[in-house]
Amino acid sequence: MEAAATSKVDVLIIGAGPAGLMLSLWMAKLGVKTRVVDKRTGKIVSGQADGFQCRTLEIFDSFGIGHKVWHEANHMHEVSFWNPDEDGKIRRHHRGPNTQPNLSRFTEAVLHQGRVESILIDTIRASASPKHPLVEIERSVMPTSLHIDESCVDDEDAYPVEVTLRHLTEEEATPTQRLSNLQDGLYRSNLAEDDTERLLANTAGVGREEKVRAKYVVGCDGAHSWVRKTLGEEYQMKGESTDAIWGVLDIIPITDFPDIRSRCMIHSAEFGAMMIIPRENKLVRVYTQLKQVSTGTGRVDRSQITPDVILETARKILSPYTLDYHYIDWWTAYQIGQRVGDRFSKHNRVFLTGDAVHTHSPKAGQGMNVSMGDTYNLGWKLGLVCKKLLQPHVLDTYELERRQIARQLIAFDHKFSRLFSGRPAKDASDEAGSSMSEFQQAFREAQLFITGVGIHYQPSILTSDSDLKGGLQGTETPSQSQVTSLAESAAHCQPGRRFASQIVLSQADARPWELQLHLPSNGRFRVVVFGGDISQATQLATVNKLGGWLQANVLSPAKSPRISLAPGPDPRGGSGSSQWMTDEDPSIVDVLLVHSAPRDKIELLQDLHEVFHPFDKKLGWDYGKVFADDHGKAHKHYGVDPDRGAVVAVRPDGYIGLVTGLQAEDGWTRLQAWFGGLLRPSPSSS
Ligand code: FAD
Repeated sequence: MEAAATSKVDVLIIGAGPAGLMLSLWMAKLGVKTRVVDKRTGKIVSGQADGFQCRTLEIFDSFGIGHKVWHEANHMHEVSFWNPDEDGKIRRHHRGPNTQPNLSRFTEAVLHQGRVESILIDTIRASASPKHPLVEIERSVMPTSLHIDESCVDDEDAYPVEVTLRHLTEEEATPTQRLSNLQDGLYRSNLAEDDTERLLANTAGVGREEKVRAKYVVGCDGAHSWVRKTLGEEYQMKGESTDAIWGVLDIIPITDFPDIRSRCMIHSAEFGAMMIIPRENKLVRVYTQLKQVSTGTGRVDRSQITPDVILETARKILSPYTLDYHYIDWWTAYQIGQRVGDRFSKHNRVFLTGDAVHTHSPKAGQGMNVSMGDTYNLGWKLGLVCKKLLQPHVLDTYELERRQIARQLIAFDHKFSRLFSGRPAKDASDEAGSSMSEFQQAFREAQLFITGVGIHYQPSILTSDSDLKGGLQGTETPSQSQVTSLAESAAHCQPGRRFASQIVLSQADARPWELQLHLPSNGRFRVVVFGGDISQATQLATVNKLGGWLQANVLSPAKSPRISLAPGPDPRGGSGSSQWMTDEDPSIVDVLLVHSAPRDKIELLQDLHEVFHPFDKKLGWDYGKVFADDHGKAHKHYGVDPDRGAVVAVRPDGYIGLVTGLQAEDGWTRLQAWFGGLLRPSPSSS
């Protein structure tokens, strides 16, 4: 073995699955010195996760890559529920929308994890620039030790985490497959042993080792997380497993089943349940409950599970319809269980994310989405802290916010999986069976959660208490069961919820825009001013007075630190978000204005304060910050009273932090205090 070299890095990411890659993307965008290691030789080639929820698509879109997934993915508009009839034959009982309309501009879409990982990796590479070092994914590398020097965890300039990395041989880094001619996911499944312990125990003839000192280490290393285990007993996952075993086939089906291109939840009278997910490229994913391989004691005979066994079971469930295939892409099997960790970070220096800290069954299409949601939440905080733009205590909010979501996920999956795996009740008196109407209802009611748009972070330093409503109306928290009003209630502006999208017209050229596209993920906070009817002189004066105050008290270099933007999508028409700013050091806070006046009654340059159309000596005026509301629809959609207006402060991840009114007495000082509690007092250039 060669002697260990030592190097320093701001952030060390362990694991390059969806969670690790989303975090790497933030680091690349924010220009943070980062290393990413993964013990496997390459990314996933086929299979694994495929369901993409609306909120994840919005997040991808904010990085300028939503259209890639949207274009290649299959869109799932419909869901059908098939249950046994009086004669025990399966019959379609209900067909409805798979995603509640108007929750988001996207619907659930399906694209395999390997392609998603490729899109992320390409975007990470494209984010490199002279100011933003390339973040490379280093394959066949795994950690063998991790030590935190607790004496310096509070010193933000220290590198308190020391990790030893081992470079693996190709053979060590290549997962074993059950069948020689077909990819499977069993090596990642909870039915198989992880190989980390075996690799660590192998000390003979191992590859090069090196030591890395990091400011922050993030465990994105999946369900068998070595990082989590290394942190100690108190980081163990808690929860339970059922003895329900499910098999998965990705096939191009040959079948006379009429709904094969719809999402289907099928319950048979005798042979268990099945789910159909129509995929891209004519593929269909078939999830099949495998009643025969469980011993009933929680023990599973894994050798019994093969693609043929899964197909045979699927045929029985689908009978009298037929099912066959010539092409199979991938297969796996897993045991249903729900587990979550109590602690997501140690000293705010080592963090756990994704499957490393919550695992559950895959059928509701949550794991990849929530895992990327974790690191989307952590990434900007960690990046801006490393750049010394954000105060380090903001990192406390990662565990606060994401543990809450993980617990909701586990509770939802517990209910959903048990209803799905249960035998259908024969009638109302059959208490041992699962009620199919309760199952459908649970699916419909969970839409806000499943789609990700219902996430509501609790009050914290980042998310002000929602009882201070400013100019908003109707901002009460919707109950999960108010299904009919989901779309409307999710759209309202509430601190802790994501800033929803709505079509507005560019004041300068009448182009309709999804407003969310003007809040790209580039590390900047936003102040969105809902100006109301600024064709009224007093309202215009109020908005301009606020503009002057924002310029002096929020945007000025003394108040708001500067951030350099990585190349990225420019919603305003250029080829990169840094392109439209010749200012090398723009403020970390961006201001947008949406008004409800008739568009032709307002002259952008003449009527409005310059904070709404800043001037650059090379590029001229910025015409991309002011929008006219289309007949007041946006004000209504966001719940803003057009006579009063409102100011909404949005975090870099698109979640609302604070809502105040337009008038000084409505709380401008709260806005100032909010930023003051987050941003660094002494601005430094990145
Ligand atoms: P992983 O994807 O497990 O990535 C962990 C990475 O860390 C891997 O690349 C691994 O090689 C690496 N690693 C592990 N240990 C080490 C180590 N010691 N050192 C270095 N590297 C290490 N989710 C959805 O959202 N939608 C779906 O439709 C969906 N369908 C699914 C279907 C199936 C059949 C399965 C099995 C899962 C499905 N999931 C779905 C869940 C989803 O795959 C996971 O939740 C998601 O992959 C978790 O992402 P992650 O990055 O946290 O972990």
